[in-house]
Amino acid sequence: MPELPDLEVLKANLTPRIVDRTVRGVEVRSPAFLKTVTPPLAELVGRKAMGVDRRGKYLLLLFQGGLRFIIHLMRWGWIWHGSSSYAPTRATLFRLALDDGMDVRVIESGSQRLARGWLLAGDAPGPEAGLGLEPLDPEFTLEAFRQVLSGKRRQLKRLLVDQKLIAGIGNAYADEILFQARLSPFRYSHTLDDGEVVRLHQAIPDTLRWAIGEIRNRLGGELFEREVRDFLWVHGRVGKPCRVCGTPIEEVLLGGQRTDYCPLCQNVNRPLT
Ligand SMILES: [Zn+2]
Repeated sequence: MPELPDLEVLKANLTPRIVDRTVRGVEVRSPAFLKTVTPPLAELVGRKAMGVDRRGKYLLLLFQGGLRFIIHLMRWGWIWHGSSSYAPTRATLFRLALDDGMDVRVIESGSQRLARGWLLAGDAPGPEAGLGLEPLDPEFTLEAFRQVLSGKRRQLKRLLVDQKLIAGIGNAYADEILFQARLSPFRYSHTLDDGEVVRLHQAIPDTLRWAIGEIRNRLGGELFEREVRDFLWVHGRVGKPCRVCGTPIEEVLLGGQRTDYCPLCQNVNRPLT
């Protein structure tokens, strides 16, 4: 599933492809994709794209007149940009035809079709309402992070992926952040001492910014079909030697999610409760 770093690079690379382009047509090819009824999609036709934004794991396409089209790619979705003359495949859920003869399409293979879209006008609250702090924004201060932790007794892995607390971090980058902070995914948030809170707070933007750079180096200006993850330290590396200490990376299911960690570097201290 794309997470904050993937979506930041997607946002940057999609922007020059759509800004100042006018919408020629829209088509929903998978009925479950569109979650809103009003305003009707036809409202987009004739409007100019003003920008691309991101909030948490949502991608926001911004149009003239305050319309925003919000996309959540979920697990397997991706964005395709290419000539409108290419016939859409069965995996195409949605297409936006632009006045330069190009399409922006939401593609998802497989039978599940989990990617979703919303068209919203003005200040109407969308699915991004209620998301927690943006970890790359100036608002993500140590004090704000302390507030997030305050009164909670949550395992760190579960806490980091809770979109209502901090937005944009998923399974992969929660593992990477905890490795960077040298903290066990099993640790409970209320057991952290001051130094550990500072370390974890710092590791969040540091890890995400590092990942954005790595992804950008690999993709250049292209759009991804699969997330680029070959540079990660622990996630997806179960059984392989830790790049720091050589211990094989271990994997457990935590809250139903694959959690990868180094049992030595992250000093696992399995809780009794
Ligand atoms: Zn290690």
